Amino acid sequence: MEGTLQAVTDTPADAAKDAPDLKPSFRSDVTVELVKHTAADADVLFAARVSTLGEQSLDELNKDPERSKGLINYLMRDRHGSPFEHNSMTFFISAPIFVFREFMRHRVGWSYNEESGRYRELQPVFYVPDESRKLVQEGRPGKYRFVEGTQAQQELVGRVMEDSYRQSYEAYQEMLAAGVAREVARAVLPVGLYSSMYATCNARSLMHFLGLRTQHELAKVPSFPQREIEMVGEKMEAEWARLMPLTYAAFNANGRVAP
Ligand SMILES: Cc1cc2nc3c(=O)[nH]c(=O)nc-3n(C[C@H](O)[C@H](O)[C@H](O)COP(=O)(O)OP(=O)(O)OC[C@H]3O[C@@H](n4cnc5c(N)ncnc54)[C@H](O)[C@@H]3O)c2cc1C
Repeated sequence: MEGTLQAVTDTPADAAKDAPDLKPSFRSDVTVELVKHTAADADVLFAARVSTLGEQSLDELNKDPERSKGLINYLMRDRHGSPFEHNSMTFFISAPIFVFREFMRHRVGWSYNEESGRYRELQPVFYVPDESRKLVQEGRPGKYRFVEGTQAQQELVGRVMEDSYRQSYEAYQEMLAAGVAREVARAVLPVGLYSSMYATCNARSLMHFLGLRTQHELAKVPSFPQREIEMVGEKMEAEWARLMPLTYAAFNANGRVAP
């Protein structure tokens, strides 16, 4: 109803000014913003020391920093995991849908809310890898190695992806213009379309995620994540490292295995 009223009262110039930008745009990066947190090394110590000190544990937190560091390292090494759950980080993430499909496989210690393709018109922002993204896969499953593509392969990827994205977004728009519901029309949109979500986790669930979705020289158990989810992981890791430096150091020192 609102739309109809606007069409009657607005001049064409006003309508053009208010209309969303329907021209596809292309990105190669991901957005990760820490929007909310209560997360500190002290939260781990507080939770752990209740075992031995009960409610007095709060007073003990800052008395002996070396002991605190040692305790966090011991908890990590012996995989005494629950003290790492008493904290919370909420990230705003914008990334292609194929990244979100992988992301949401992480079920434990994560909460998600994603933008809706039923309630809003999806914006034409699409993923095209830049030249740093290795394009060619070699080896067998589980032991893949990625190598640079040729100049011709890079140009091909850019051109074919952009053409395909434009075509599918036009099809989406054509159906919306004909009155088809957003939830039906979105079926033509590809997994390279950007979506956005809030994802909330704690240090333990984040460590489990990072162990699987990043490659790192200190990892005791190597993983082979897709580069684009790793880009998200690296940005979350940088935020977390700043908030919980002792926990982060212990994670690395113990082979990046979640406790
Ligand atoms: C490199 C890589 C390749 C992958 N390839 C594929 C693929 O080809 N196809 C595919 O479908 N998935 C694939 N995955 C996804 C993978 O199988 C996991 O779903 C994903 O990594 C989430 O891990 P998780 O289940 O340990 O995490 P979470 O769901 O967060 O679970 C955390 C931990 O809780 C415990 N847990 C959770 N649920 C259960 C349960 N139901 N029963 C028992 N214990 C439970 C487990 O100890 C688990 O490790 C891949 C993942 C990676 C990292």
